[in-house]
Amino acid sequence: MSVSAGREFLAIPGPTTVPDAVLQAMHRPAVDIYAGSLLALTDGLLRDVARMFSTEGRAYIYSANGHGAWEAALTNVLSRGDKILVLESGRFAVGWGNSAGRMGVEVEILKGDMRRAVRPAEVEARLKADKGSTIKAVLVTQVDTASGVVNDIPAIGEAIRAAGHDALLMVDAVASLGCMKFDMDGWGVDVAMSASQKGLMAPPGLSFVAANARARDVHKTAGLRTPYWDWTERDGDHHYQKYAGTPPEHMLFALRRALDMLFEEGLENVFRRHALLAEAVRRAVGVWSAGQVIGFNIIEPSERCDTVTPVLVEGYDPDALRAYCREQCGVVLGHGIGDLSGRAFRVAHMGHVNAPMVLGTLSVIEMALMALQIPHGRGGTQAAIEWLGEQVKA
Ligand SMILES: *Cc1c(COP(=O)(O)O)cnc(C)c1O
Repeated sequence: MSVSAGREFLAIPGPTTVPDAVLQAMHRPAVDIYAGSLLALTDGLLRDVARMFSTEGRAYIYSANGHGAWEAALTNVLSRGDKILVLESGRFAVGWGNSAGRMGVEVEILKGDMRRAVRPAEVEARLKADKGSTIKAVLVTQVDTASGVVNDIPAIGEAIRAAGHDALLMVDAVASLGCMKFDMDGWGVDVAMSASQKGLMAPPGLSFVAANARARDVHKTAGLRTPYWDWTERDGDHHYQKYAGTPPEHMLFALRRALDMLFEEGLENVFRRHALLAEAVRRAVGVWSAGQVIGFNIIEPSERCDTVTPVLVEGYDPDALRAYCREQCGVVLGHGIGDLSGRAFRVAHMGHVNAPMVLGTLSVIEMALMALQIPHGRGGTQAAIEWLGEQVKA
């Protein structure tokens, strides 16, 4: 018996639900790439992508997923043999560092673990010990989508300055941009990157890099530059150069609509919505954890991010729970990745999400816990409802 007919709900941390209005924005003929409305569209998008990162610096739009933007960010500021420091707090910064390693960059990992945020004091100590300033860049994620941690980017920026070190601060905001505050200039971030398919509510296939003046200065002598990613090429006067070839027009139409939706809601409201819905999920998980089987991956409550919640399952199979949710109920949850593979499921609450989507997802998880007889505290969804009922006033 299944109750899954109807629209399947995707509660994985990317791609996320694409709003109907964004899908519809793509349903139109291709347009001229040399003249007309597309030129103004590009100008507006470059301006608004920079606005999303909160920078006076420059934004670049790539036809690529997040892995592409990782490469774009690295190749534009580094040279073979340069050393970088990767701040571990899950999987993604290390993944970014691995691509640098493959390009001939020397990668040092500042050891962290899957269950906590980067400690800014450790960053400061490591950089203070780097006497000759051999470290050229520090890589970190704002949100690590595998662990569910949120790193304190302003404090990490402070730590670099307190160490008197001139390494570039490079931040992966794929799982946070458009969901949480990101203040590139205010926090001293030199290079930031993100992608279209998570908080930005567009289909996968576009990614973004923002660079401040300091990064663009370092860029001038970077040895890893290649034609497709190169900022200098893209800074050229011709529209064609902005994309190093044919612009991904329909993706741009989608992105325009998605950004307009975010601006219409108001970014402060968008961030507040994410914080409220994330806390609703955490209230539910907190109640379920009374059964001693379900638990949070991130130990310290203040280090849990507002976009995805990885949930540990001790002694039971999280993939059986995910299969039940998908096949019987039409809700697709994320699987545990990295060290959490086979030990966790992940609930995404990023992008185009509202109370019924999140409460529906929590209800289905609770239904699965019952059906699979996984011990849990009763009333998790109720706790989420109560939280939202208190916070969201008439
Ligand atoms: C999803 C994700 C990526 C990778 O993005 P792709 O589009 O899958 O290449 C990188 N970093 C973080 C934090 C992510 O969540």
